[in-house]
Amino acid sequence: MTRSELATLAALLPVLLWSCGGGGSGSDASTPQPAPQPPANPPPLPANVTQQRLLAAATEPSQWMTNGGDYQEWRYSRLTQIDRGNVSQLGLVWFSGLDTNVQQNSTPLEIDGVLYVSTAWSKVYAFDARSGTQLWQYDSQVPDAWRAKVCCGLKNRGVAAWGGKIYVGTLDGRLVAIDARTGTAAWSVLTIDAAWRYAITGAPRVAKGMVFIGNAGAEYGVRGYLSAYDAETGRLLWRFFTVPGNPATGFENQAMQTAAATWSGDWWRIGGGGAVWNSIVYDPATDLVYFGTANGTPWNQRYRDPSGGDNLYIASIVAVRADTGDYVWHYQATPGDTWDYDATSALTIADLSLDGRTRHVVMQANKNGFFYVLDGATGELLRAQAFTQQNWTDGVDMTTRRPRVRPEARYGAGQDFNGIPGPQGARGWHPSAFSPQTGLLYIPTQEAYFAWVHDPSYLPSDTGYNLGIDLSGGNYYQTHPAAPRGFVSSLQAWDPTRGARVWSGESNVGPTGGALATAGGLVFQGGGSSQELRAYDGASGAKLWSTQTRTGVFAGPISYEIDGRQYIAVVVGSGASTPSAPNLSRVLVFALNGTAQLPP
Ligand code: CA
Repeated sequence: MTRSELATLAALLPVLLWSCGGGGSGSDASTPQPAPQPPANPPPLPANVTQQRLLAAATEPSQWMTNGGDYQEWRYSRLTQIDRGNVSQLGLVWFSGLDTNVQQNSTPLEIDGVLYVSTAWSKVYAFDARSGTQLWQYDSQVPDAWRAKVCCGLKNRGVAAWGGKIYVGTLDGRLVAIDARTGTAAWSVLTIDAAWRYAITGAPRVAKGMVFIGNAGAEYGVRGYLSAYDAETGRLLWRFFTVPGNPATGFENQAMQTAAATWSGDWWRIGGGGAVWNSIVYDPATDLVYFGTANGTPWNQRYRDPSGGDNLYIASIVAVRADTGDYVWHYQATPGDTWDYDATSALTIADLSLDGRTRHVVMQANKNGFFYVLDGATGELLRAQAFTQQNWTDGVDMTTRRPRVRPEARYGAGQDFNGIPGPQGARGWHPSAFSPQTGLLYIPTQEAYFAWVHDPSYLPSDTGYNLGIDLSGGNYYQTHPAAPRGFVSSLQAWDPTRGARVWSGESNVGPTGGALATAGGLVFQGGGSSQELRAYDGASGAKLWSTQTRTGVFAGPISYEIDGRQYIAVVVGSGASTPSAPNLSRVLVFALNGTAQLPP
């Protein structure tokens, strides 16, 4: 064997070991461990999440039962063992390898001692949350060819749990209920028309025996919607479309008729967009479901609707009745969107003291750079403030509730626009956290410029990633060398009542990770491609702890407690840069005085 062949073999060794099922020492094993022997008395139903438990989630701080931690989606742990004084002693307790070498975005659930983790390619694992022993693995077996229908990575952002089942949306549009005890499918329903380029990357939410799920695809031409399924049987209960269909075939409801008046042309031929691909929140105080909708199809409104209508309900926050899916209110953050300003980032429910009275509100730090506070019951706009750089407006007119869009921002033939935020957004899907202790919202904030250049050769008959713009930006930055550009990010603490930034954390290149706030006065956050998990003092922003993760951390961490010990868990993984790159996708679990080590 030559020297170069030896070098090649050495480089491949981790991959070969991986494919043989051996992951070396630690817990990097891809095969399930033997199931423990059943005890004499049958154990209680696993993942037994109920409406009562979710309503009272604050009384069970040891659990993490839903994507955002509770119905309010605060991503706030009430556990206090790990605090500002001892976080420096936080160490790794266990870790486990995940077998998809694609960027990992998911938030785990922890319920009654079991950690449920979804990964890229819509796979799900269950681990003993204390030891890391793998209990089962579920592979949804998405066909490889489906990757052509997914705009932005083969990702999954989490699962839901209810009544002994774990729910995952798959890239190829299925909603699957997994038996939480065995890891086998209890039922599976196709939620999409597979002739269109839908995909599911978002986490389902559950409430009142229903599973709520949307889908992605507004970059490829789909008609967005949110569906509710019976959690027990998988029966479709209702569906709310976010944009009107072909008027010739009639509208499903009054909301679609109202929306159609804000469109012109033949938008329905390429779907219209408005996909519900991330944030879905059930609010027990109003009995409404709030969700955010994506951009229109294509991005460039001059092709989507040459008349420049608002195009309801794209780029909007929408509220429907939980039991029926009937429209209640909407707020369109970006009327006539032409910048890919999805309104799909995290929605947070809280009671805030505003203008001398307590208001029950929905909050969102939007991709378009504005922080919105809306009345939960009515959708009334209470606040709209820029939380970072933006140059597409001169602010929001609080009388009309509309952004004052600068004319130059509406790019077109011969009119390029160097915009901030770009399509990366002032924030992405990376979850924010809210601490009632500090009253602050912790927002993974992005500052990203983008040269918007009209594509004169756009054809609506083109299928695929076809946006009506020159994605390369043409030669904009060559001809405008002094134009600002770049993509940086940091976590910022935002006071939603004053509308002011309180602190911001370390700057990263590219996107930064999701946040977790705790009653120990801490905020945990991944450094994005900076390959570390950090803990900040939630009040001051002082960086108190960090650990190297050897791969990027984009997903939101969680916290749970077993037998008096508090844990922090996070899913890590940048994804492969080359096909032969080692797979570093893992779930990492930390506690005070943990001594486990990642392989070098
Ligand atoms: Ca989008």
